[in-house]
Amino acid sequence: MDSYKLTPLEQQSLQNAVAQLKQDGGPVPRDFGPNFDQMAAKVAQLKKEHDAVVLAHYYVPAATQAMADYVGDSFYLARLAKTLDASTIVLCGVSFMAESVKLLNPSRRVLMPAPHADCPMAHMVRKADVDKVRDEYDDLAIVAYVNTTAEIKSWADVCVTSSNAIKVVRSLPQHNILFLPDMNLGRYVAQQLPEKNVILNRGFCPTHHRIIPAEVEALEMEHPEAEVLAHPECTDQVLGEADFIGSTKQIIEHIAASDQKEFIVLTVMGVSYEIERQTKGQGKKIYYPATPPICPNMAMVSPESLVSCLEKLSGEIDLPVNPDRANAPLERMLEIAGR
Ligand code: SF4
Repeated sequence: MDSYKLTPLEQQSLQNAVAQLKQDGGPVPRDFGPNFDQMAAKVAQLKKEHDAVVLAHYYVPAATQAMADYVGDSFYLARLAKTLDASTIVLCGVSFMAESVKLLNPSRRVLMPAPHADCPMAHMVRKADVDKVRDEYDDLAIVAYVNTTAEIKSWADVCVTSSNAIKVVRSLPQHNILFLPDMNLGRYVAQQLPEKNVILNRGFCPTHHRIIPAEVEALEMEHPEAEVLAHPECTDQVLGEADFIGSTKQIIEHIAASDQKEFIVLTVMGVSYEIERQTKGQGKKIYYPATPPICPNMAMVSPESLVSCLEKLSGEIDLPVNPDRANAPLERMLEIAGR
């Protein structure tokens, strides 16, 4: 299996998040602690002062999601960003998400509460490999998962998210598709679209890669009635165990709509907050692998960092060098996905 060595900052963040998980007794704490109301009031006041709106991804800590105006997955946040009037947009997530918001809204100030929160997978593409494939095929589309840097997006013809990848790739006239950077999502798309020749890159999400079949099988033995839901960033072997494969939002919606009571969820634990919100009182039980699937970068986006970001107006995102070229594949995705 390909491996990724966490940076010291990521190691520290993961350690803190695992310790917090143990202290809270689960991914959603019973309460957010004595300072939460005070911090939430401060956020509300600063948003008003600075004409700001707060967007959060499902993978950031529950208390941060609770302070946001909008919570969603990458596709929802990218689409939403284009409709907002506020002059300042605070993005509680990792840097490729904030970059996408800035590309789609160049006139707005876009801030990141945790500017060091980066996605390792977003960098896992080498330009030389892209050029080699481009030279090899005439009939080629380069498809970039939104989980890429703006520079990598600028090499692509269209972007996709895990919610719309199949729809977007199916709609492309080209037969050959170079899928960047995630080999797992790329392989999943290839399996769903046998009419296309999907060329894979070797990128992967280190957090979804830490979910291993042995831990999934142990959960299945323990909870034989549970339905298994997996994100397509998981490995092929893990996806082989799944009853349902979908994006973060699709997993949440599937659980909310299901009559089942028990679910084994194979994606980042941050989704629990939204699952609990949507299934309150239904007695649904969610189980995760023994090695907690926490994204150390998303875990950096604490409520304290959100308050500090709004106080100091820090973590501002600049436009990349070639913004029009990086924005074009994002706009094309929104157009195709909206059809
Ligand atoms: S969960 Fe994976 S893909 Fe998402 S931000 Fe973290 S490392 Fe990147």
